[in-house]
Amino acid sequence: MPDTLSYQNFCRMCQSAVGQIRANHEMLSRLDAAVGDGDHGTTILRAMEAMASAVAANTGTDLKELLAKIGWDIMGCDGGSTGPLLGSFFMGMSDAVADTSELDCAAVVAMFEGGIQKVAKQSRAQVGDKTMMDAFLPALDAMRAAAQSGSVRTVLEQAAQAAATGAEATKEFRAKFGRARNLGDRVIGHIDPGAVSISLIFKGFSEGL
Ligand SMILES: [Mg+2]
Repeated sequence: MPDTLSYQNFCRMCQSAVGQIRANHEMLSRLDAAVGDGDHGTTILRAMEAMASAVAANTGTDLKELLAKIGWDIMGCDGGSTGPLLGSFFMGMSDAVADTSELDCAAVVAMFEGGIQKVAKQSRAQVGDKTMMDAFLPALDAMRAAAQSGSVRTVLEQAAQAAATGAEATKEFRAKFGRARNLGDRVIGHIDPGAVSISLIFKGFSEGL
């Protein structure tokens, strides 16, 4: 397999990511019921189905255009507080990518960097705040560290692993944002559903490649 990311590869990554959310949305809502209002699985599934529809409907081969379309469609669906953040992720990736249908490893890392930095700016949460950034930010660090490998596959595997570890670590944290913030110490021992969703999406990206 050539170590670049093609438009078709990226579509497969998206299909695999939505598959992870379809398989796990009930579990995600159960996690949210412990720390929030129990709707996370439903809202993230809606956002990811919007992504799947955008991918299925797109007939071009321009990654930048596809990413922007996914971003707009996710923002346009009722995705609770998660939708706008996830929409920004794809918009930021679109901004960071050149008009091309094939990316080398450095360009893939730059694409994810653009997406995650856009979410980070909007969310303002840090690692340790018990949000989706607990998965996103370690994934970004891992991708930057793996960039030298020159392997898109390695970059995505490392990102998925770091996101999963980051999500797991949210168990120990108090929440600084959202409804969970009002629960104080009572959320300790419960994993953040948003961080788990992001780790599942990166798992899907990695497995879909
Ligand atoms: Mg909720």
